[in-house]
Formats: sequence, C-alpha cells, structure tokens
Amino acid sequence: IPAGGLLPQGEEGGLKGLGRGSRDPLNPKDVFIAVKTTKKYHRSRLELLLQTWGSQAKEQTYIFTDGEDSELRKRAGGVNIINTNCSAAHTRQALCCKMSVEYDKFIESQKKWFCHVDDDNYVILPSLLRLLSSYHPSQDVYLGRPSLDHPIEAAERVKSDGSVSVKFWFATGGAGFCISRGLALKMSPWASLGNFISTAEKIRLPDDCTIGYIIEALLEVRLAHTYLFHSHLENLQKLPTDTVLDQVTLSYGGFENRRNVVAVGGPFSLAEDPSRFKTIHCLLYPDTDWCLAGNPGGHF
Ligand code: UDP
Ligand code: MN
Repeated sequence: IPAGGLLPQGEEGGLKGLGRGSRDPLNPKDVFIAVKTTKKYHRSRLELLLQTWGSQAKEQTYIFTDGEDSELRKRAGGVNIINTNCSAAHTRQALCCKMSVEYDKFIESQKKWFCHVDDDNYVILPSLLRLLSSYHPSQDVYLGRPSLDHPIEAAERVKSDGSVSVKFWFATGGAGFCISRGLALKMSPWASLGNFISTAEKIRLPDDCTIGYIIEALLEVRLAHTYLFHSHLENLQKLPTDTVLDQVTLSYGGFENRRNVVAVGGPFSLAEDPSRFKTIHCLLYPDTDWCLAGNPGGHF
C-alpha cells in the first residue's frame, strides 16, 4: 500500500479477486501525456523523444512549447504540438503559464488521466498503462515521486495581511506525475483558465509544488508515493538493470561533465546513445527499423 494510503482498484476488500482494473479496462486513448518543452530543446530533446517513446504514444502525447516551429510540426507526425505563447524564460511565471495551458487542454480533451513529464523523460508506456489501470479515473488519484523525504513547508499569502505556514507533499515534475480526471475536475477553481498562475503566486513556488499545494493542502487529497517515476536529480546508475523496463519514467542528465544515465547495455555505445533512450527503446520495441539496422539478428 503506498504511503499515500490509496488502495489501487481491485485491492479494496470487496473488490478482491476481480483483478486489477478488470471492471473497467484502461483504453490507452484515455491517457493524456503533457510534455513541457521550450524552443531551444526542439532539435535536441524533442528529436530524441519523437524518435523513441513519442512514436509509440502519438495519440497520448501533447507537446507544450513556447515558440512556433514548422519543422517540429512536420517531424511530429501524429503527435500534438501546442504553442502556449508563454514566455520562453525559465521563470516560475513562465513555467506556471505552461502548466496552466496543459491543465486546460487536458480538461478539454475529455481523457481520463492527466500525466505531465519533462522533455528529458522517457515514458515507458506499457508500465504507465499498467500502473494507471490499477486505479479508477473517477477516484481522487495523484501519483508521483515525492521530491523530498519530508513535506515542503510554504508560506501561504492570505488576504492583504501576512501569511500562514502550510505543509504538503508534492510530486517532482522532473520525474513526471499523473492525476485522475476526477481529481483534476476538483482542482478547477485553482487551476483552470489562468487561476493556476494566481494560485502559484500565493505560495511563490514552482509549477509542480503548486500542483501539490492545490491537491494536498487545498483539496486534502494525499499524494500516492511511487518510486516508478525518475528524474535526473537521483543517481540513475543505481537503478538495477533488470528493473529498468518496469519503471514508468526515466531521465538523463549531465553527460557533458558528470554523466547520469541508466545502466543498460545493447546495440548502442555510450557515444552513440549518451542518454540510453535509444537503447531502452530497442529493448522495448525490438522491431523498430533503426533498431534492426545496426543489429540484423534482432538479438541484444
Ligand atoms: N524548460 C522550459 N523553459 C525554459 C527551460 C526549461 O519550459 O526556459 C523546460 C524544459 O524543456 C524541461 C523542464 O523545463 O521540460 C526542465 O528543464 P531542464 O531539464 O533544462 O532543467 P532541470 O531539469 O535541471 O530543472
Ligand atoms: Mn531536466
């Protein structure tokens, strides 16, 4: 049972024996994966993303960027590209602006699960679907990796005078997180149509903390702590090789100086595949044309 106390569907007393999600199987089309990006990463990070996991999740993937790029639109194929018109600065306001558009587009989409990732994440779609199918989208579900080992304490601005202290857990945005539609709808007064930006201003914290603030502090719904989501803030080499494909998200960082990538071997050397995303992709989808090209037998 996750520390958040949420019971996956099928594990509650009365539902035992029915199997995970067997009452209402999850259709892959019902998942909305928002990718946060910025113009300077279109060539590097987005190219890799579209070549790898994005190509297997076209219907689910929505890329939120800050600049028009006709080359990217051409390259994206069926992947949705949304120009948020938010500023391309790495400021709290600009990042919250993007999250606010992600939220509104999700609500509009009618899909059942909202997941947010960064452009340096790899989403292992089969693992994500497996995880989500053990919950019901009408339940209040907030899933992700806590970014600290204790709740964050923030000063919440109240009316005109002073502030009060609030403590809450939040899922780190750099590892990705998911929210059920049921919970997302309840967030609407603080998250929809520009309200997200004013909510973030009340605590003056980044976008992912603001999500945690709305869910944990305002709606009193607990984060379900899961360690299947990974950012490059952790030591990715430590992830056991035989568990890599069971994770929900992966990431990479700092290959200029201190390389931080998952330990997987395969058809590509570290020089050919510094992030290891191509290698992971070929382990998951060995029939991919460019996987077979370097490895005619198809065995890794
Ligand atoms: N990002 C953004 N605008 C910026 C810089 C970054 O939207 O001006 C996005 C970027 O595309 C990524 C996320 O914010 O999805 C985190 O950026 P990055 O990986 O560069 O930083 P870090 O992981 O170190 O916070
Ligand atoms: Mn990053």
